[in-house]
Amino acid sequence: MRSFASDNNSGVHPNVMEAIIKANSDHSIAYGGDDLTLKAIDLIKNNFGKDCDVFFVFNGTAANVLSISALLKPYEAVICASTSHLNTDECGAPEKNTHCKLITIETKNGKLTPDAIEPYIKGIDNEHHVQPKMISITQSTEYGTVYTIDEIKKIAELAHSHNLYLHIDGARIYNAAAHLNATLKDITFGAGADVVSLGGTKNGLLFGEAVIFKNIQYSGGFKFIRKQSMQLASKMRFIAAQFIALFSDDLWLKNALHSNKMARLLSDELKKIPQIKITQNVEANSVFAIIPPYYISLIQQKYFFYVWNEKKSEVRLMTSFDTTEEDISSFVSHTMDIIGVEKENKCKICDNIDLEIIFNKKKTKKYFYCKKCGYIYVEPTKLPDIDQEKQRYLLHNNAEENSGYPEMFENLLSVINDWHNESIKTALDFGCGPTPVLANLLRKRGIETDIYDPFFAPEKVYENKTYDLITCTEVFEHLFNPVAIMELFEKHLNKNGIIAITTHFHPSDSEKFAEWWYIRDETHISFYTHKTFEYLASLFGLEVLLCTRKNICIIGKTNTKFY
Ligand SMILES: [Zn+2]
Ligand SMILES: [Zn+2]
Repeated sequence: MRSFASDNNSGVHPNVMEAIIKANSDHSIAYGGDDLTLKAIDLIKNNFGKDCDVFFVFNGTAANVLSISALLKPYEAVICASTSHLNTDECGAPEKNTHCKLITIETKNGKLTPDAIEPYIKGIDNEHHVQPKMISITQSTEYGTVYTIDEIKKIAELAHSHNLYLHIDGARIYNAAAHLNATLKDITFGAGADVVSLGGTKNGLLFGEAVIFKNIQYSGGFKFIRKQSMQLASKMRFIAAQFIALFSDDLWLKNALHSNKMARLLSDELKKIPQIKITQNVEANSVFAIIPPYYISLIQQKYFFYVWNEKKSEVRLMTSFDTTEEDISSFVSHTMDIIGVEKENKCKICDNIDLEIIFNKKKTKKYFYCKKCGYIYVEPTKLPDIDQEKQRYLLHNNAEENSGYPEMFENLLSVINDWHNESIKTALDFGCGPTPVLANLLRKRGIETDIYDPFFAPEKVYENKTYDLITCTEVFEHLFNPVAIMELFEKHLNKNGIIAITTHFHPSDSEKFAEWWYIRDETHISFYTHKTFEYLASLFGLEVLLCTRKNICIIGKTNTKFY
């Protein structure tokens, strides 16, 4: 498996593994009194400053939490970005272990600014208020953006002018240094930081991070805090050996330069897909992108990655020291297949290359019309963006709630009822919209009904399940790739199950099409006839059992007994 989920998903860099194996000989003093630990600390000081005080710990959450424990009292507070690892990914460990409040600030790109921070430095010396005592920034940020040295200096000045400490969560500090072409010292203590959580695991280590203080004035008592917090490694030489490898021959920099480069490549390649939008500057080793919601889970079947913001359909893709160009080209090609991007101009459904170009009435939009299967789809540059689609979706449903919708559902149900009543016990309404009207009607008829909608019910309840009935009303005209969705339906359909689709069939005439009301909705991008559904169904061993004149199509497995 290759993964873009996290830089923790990659393995251990071979040099690091070799260093661990080399350290595994003879006996040695425990708890950091050994030569390897001294050497590793020396190497880190060479990179961060001679006065630094370095302490190894097991993991990044501990490095962050203990940085706070060392410097703050329980009535003091840490100001950080709402997206910070401290706030979102540590299960409340900072609050539980330090008793300090986190004061979180919303940002657009993961970066705090003095202007954003200043209003939160308040209530000083007032016993009713928690006392802000630390600003914590993440470098590079959880959004893959990087603070410039100047930006850090300004935050440090603000912190120090109010007697606050500046902490840097440096889980990915190497990627930031690589991006800025600066030394690790320049972007940390040289820019005014007081304490740094130094990463390792995300840049090729097996495990092991460190807390680095600017000097011993900040680190007094820390050895006791570390032990009391269960972070003192007895065989510390094995953490140290890894850091020695990381800081030898600039391995940290080579790894970071490589993963940054892979992220840029990934972003450049994804930009070629008109349906995908990159949402953050790619400065370190992550790419944030909006991918059309219907396709995310299909892409994830082959490559794992996280959905960062479900509402925005925004995903996070991470690269690491061992991501290859091959990984990226296969991922992008798989994504293109799923979304149905034209690699050459041929019909997505029947592969016909003889496509007619037709237009809307004002000739502002171009469509491809396949005369073989009847499929019509809009030129990719005219695709709506996600926000537009969601807004339109809300409008469209509400507007039709009072007029056509209930009637359409009743029609659909009577078609299903007339033909197939007895055997339907379970149903999935795919693309149910903001209010599950149809699902409720089905439930009233005693059918156990699941709902899914990428915007309004995004949990993929259908995974590992099959259904007697899959309904999909007024969705197909919004799809970039109906083939992928039909494939998904086939997978989740019981042997004698049926798929009930509604979408308005187009008039099969380019002049009438140009005037057709249905194409005026900006988010309608795919149009079908009976014949299109016959082709589409046949791709997956399905067949059209029934089509009404206007807008209903019932599909089942070939040889389904339809009565
Ligand atoms: Zn076709
Ligand atoms: Zn629609």
